[in-house]
Amino acid sequence: MSEFDYDLFVIGGGSGGVRAARVAAGEAGAKVALAEEDRYGGTCVIRGCVPKKLMVFASGYSEMANEAASYGWNMTAGQFDWPAFSKRLNAELDRLEGVYRKLLSGSGVTTYDARARLKDPHTVTLSTGETVTAKHILIATGGRPMRPEMDNADLGIVSDDIFHLKELPKSILIVGGGYIACEFACILNGLGVEVTQYYRGAQILRGFDEEARGLIANSMCENGIDLHTGTNIVEMHRVADVMGDDMGGPVEDVQYGGTTRDTAGGGPVRVKATNGTVTDFDVVMFATGRKPNSDDLGLESLGVSLGRAGQIEVDEYSQTGVPSIYAIGDVTDRVNLTPVAIREGMAFVETVFHGNPTPIDHTLIPSAVFTQPEFGTVGLSEEAARDQEPIEVYCTSFRPMQTAFAEKPDRVLMKLVVSVETRKVLGCHIVAPNAGEMIQMAGIAVKMGATKEDFDRTVAVHPTMSEEIVTMRKPTRTA
Ligand code: NDP
Repeated sequence: MSEFDYDLFVIGGGSGGVRAARVAAGEAGAKVALAEEDRYGGTCVIRGCVPKKLMVFASGYSEMANEAASYGWNMTAGQFDWPAFSKRLNAELDRLEGVYRKLLSGSGVTTYDARARLKDPHTVTLSTGETVTAKHILIATGGRPMRPEMDNADLGIVSDDIFHLKELPKSILIVGGGYIACEFACILNGLGVEVTQYYRGAQILRGFDEEARGLIANSMCENGIDLHTGTNIVEMHRVADVMGDDMGGPVEDVQYGGTTRDTAGGGPVRVKATNGTVTDFDVVMFATGRKPNSDDLGLESLGVSLGRAGQIEVDEYSQTGVPSIYAIGDVTDRVNLTPVAIREGMAFVETVFHGNPTPIDHTLIPSAVFTQPEFGTVGLSEEAARDQEPIEVYCTSFRPMQTAFAEKPDRVLMKLVVSVETRKVLGCHIVAPNAGEMIQMAGIAVKMGATKEDFDRTVAVHPTMSEEIVTMRKPTRTA
């Protein structure tokens, strides 16, 4: 008989926590409990990847109808019905939440719909008033969107709120240049919203391959997004609060991001920007980064170290400085992606419950940014690779058959960054429709250490866009 109520207590029912709990219980036979204060499925399922991807699909249909006309179809797109889509979206999220709950109960995991807080290295107190003990505690509480520190920042919504809008706004200002800002700029633009995007830096998607960033930014502008780089908000107010006032100059100088419609509650927002403009938007959305959910868990008093951004500091086995406490996923701010949190959860179970210490490999993780066009990437950007060693760059950009036939200007990019010395492909970057699907496959080769010659030996699949990845014979440049 164990001295603890459970072998494992997991705090957080998102992708990482649920996977660790059910594998520990179902496969390792551990006695496991999990506490979730909100909805099961976490950011990915409830307010991130899944609803976002469904919105990406929704926004793609308007263009499909336009293109279909070039292929002989007598078809027009008509109006997008947000309430109808939103209802179906929420029903799907309810279904998925049910699946997550079932996965847990089916594996024998006890669930508590409550907020949990650590009392000591083996004890958790719950918002229901209960106290439970466990041999191991796993924190998988994820992260949340962050607003910038400025007056009236609460007038802006964040990505979580997008899924709850009653109506789509006519105009939106999106602030930020990362994954979330760019994805939602493209989604909402595709759904017919007038999108303005402010990014404080010189080019969106900082850290990714520059050529790919440039092509995505150009395409976003061509598709109708009013992208302003080197631009940020200076001040913002509710229009209703500054009527008759002259924020930023005479009212006749105020531009309109679109007609005003109250879709996020409270009415339109007037924004003064660093470029001197004053513009009214129905909605302002901050996509200015995320913060780990490590507050008020009782961690500091137990001696669990937090980093500057509030992330829980862990070693390569996801163990904190307190031996019984582990943490995985976005709350540790390592690589904030769902499949990585799942991997970290599986490695934790392998280490703790199978006695097989398994460090997590955070190298060469393929990922996709669901902009339009989509971006799939694995490995080093050209810029990072050339700082590391001599490289060859193989690159081609062209108009793909499907949209070229429809006389659209869309371009795609296929790019390989190759080590001169080892011939290994150090990076693969694809900007194209369905690039996310392509990079999953290319990622296997790159992870295996494939050389450029291995790519060359592979016969092309014709006619496809991705065949270019195995047919680029001469380097475009060396560096
Ligand atoms: P990011 O950190 O990627 O981007 C934040 C953006 O906001 C950056 O452009 C940053 O600018 C800007 N910013 C930060 N602070 C301010 C400020 N005070 N004023 C103006 N701009 C500011 O965060 P996201 O929220 O976009 O995404 C978070 C994480 O979620 C990603 O890193 C990714 O791991 C994950 N994610 C993954 C997705 C996928 O796989 N498809 C989709 C969505 C999210 P600067 O560049 O100058 O710092």
